[in-house]
Amino acid sequence: MINKVLIANRGEIALRILRACKELDIRTVAVHSAVDRDLMHVRLADESVCIGPNTATDSYLNIPAIISAAEVTDADAIHPGYGFLAENADFAEQVEKSGFRYIGPSAETIRLMGNKVSAIRSMIRAGVPTVPGSNGPLTEDEERTKAVAREIGYPVLIKAASGGGGRGMQVVHSEHALLKGVHVTQREAQGAFGDETVYLEKYLDRPRHVEVQVLADAHGNVIHLGDRDCSLQRRHQKVMEEAPAPNINPESRERTLQACLAACREIGYVGAGTFEFLYQDGEFFFIEMNTRVQVEHPVSEMVTGVDIVAEQIRIASGEQLRYTQDDIEIRGHSLECRINAEDPKTFAPSPGRVERFHPPGGLGIRVDSHLYSGYSIPPYYDSLVGKLITFGESRDTCLARMHNALDELIVIGIKTNSALHQRLIRDEAFRKADITIHYLEHLIRRD
Ligand code: ADP
Repeated sequence: MINKVLIANRGEIALRILRACKELDIRTVAVHSAVDRDLMHVRLADESVCIGPNTATDSYLNIPAIISAAEVTDADAIHPGYGFLAENADFAEQVEKSGFRYIGPSAETIRLMGNKVSAIRSMIRAGVPTVPGSNGPLTEDEERTKAVAREIGYPVLIKAASGGGGRGMQVVHSEHALLKGVHVTQREAQGAFGDETVYLEKYLDRPRHVEVQVLADAHGNVIHLGDRDCSLQRRHQKVMEEAPAPNINPESRERTLQACLAACREIGYVGAGTFEFLYQDGEFFFIEMNTRVQVEHPVSEMVTGVDIVAEQIRIASGEQLRYTQDDIEIRGHSLECRINAEDPKTFAPSPGRVERFHPPGGLGIRVDSHLYSGYSIPPYYDSLVGKLITFGESRDTCLARMHNALDELIVIGIKTNSALHQRLIRDEAFRKADITIHYLEHLIRRD
């Protein structure tokens, strides 16, 4: 059993992990950069270690400093959260080699899924439907590249195999722009991810983003916790998410959920994971797998009652899953609004001192945030400062509660995107769930 967990992250997810550990009676170590000593979870952790200066490269991405902190505090496991080192296979490997448990899948699995080309190949083997595409890297043979694109049909999307965070993607509408686009994306991918491998996918013009949450233990037990819709995106970054995904064809849903379970067995997946799909014309098309806990995991927790972070820790301890698929019942509806410290019009980050913070409350309201009155948001990291999550027996109740929660939320001293959420909650198309991944960008551009 795990006795002490080192939390290799910051902000709301570090607090989320801390809460799960406390519930499981596990001691906690917070590691933080110099500026982050006043973070909520640092104050609440049993121990804390400053691992370096403010820039992420020197602190939250500094593998030797994190492993040293685990050694001096005698932690026995490390939780990576999301972002930072969460999908870094080398980190997982070094954690295990240093004698600690990594709370997540094996380095080998992270590596396999971290490369989108190898991930797609594994999915095809397991019978998971993928987006029509090159199903492999582009080569130097330019005639072959052109032929592959022609066969897929324009528009095509050039994607970096090692891409992430919505970067390393380019849409091309005609053959005339193809080769230049490939070269540009290769160069960008080399610069950003140290890997110039790119591949092609059909660019879907009106898909929704629907993803499937899974949990798998080291004993071969695998379950899914249903799906989530994350179509409201800006620059390929999710803004609002909900579970279950509304208006999904029940047969393709069931087929896809089963295919995800089969894929977990095929790749020997262990831990919490997410299969991301595009959903168009009643069909699912796999795009990538995330081998970590996701920002939007709470909506699945709300409709299933399963604590995903606690399960991650139990799985890493070698325990069997406490649920079979039959135990999982999707009940009610849940919505999550990502509260970012940013200007609601320009989207420029808005760090600074939070003079006053008042979270909403009431039945079916959950707030995952590390904010408190007097806390200063540093300018060095992600602008996500909290998540408002609501639950209701129906989607309408869930929306009404989010409406209230957004009205009650008070953050004074910095700007947040709360007004954007208020607008979306009232938006006719969103209320009818009649939107695609392009909807939010169109809405913003119309202003
Ligand atoms: P990342 O790893 O950077 O998150 P993904 O492959 O998950 O990249 O894609 C991120 C987002 O980009 C998706 O949610 C979707 O909005 C868009 N996208 C990805 N692939 C396609 C595609 N083939 N057609 C249209 N949009 C796509």
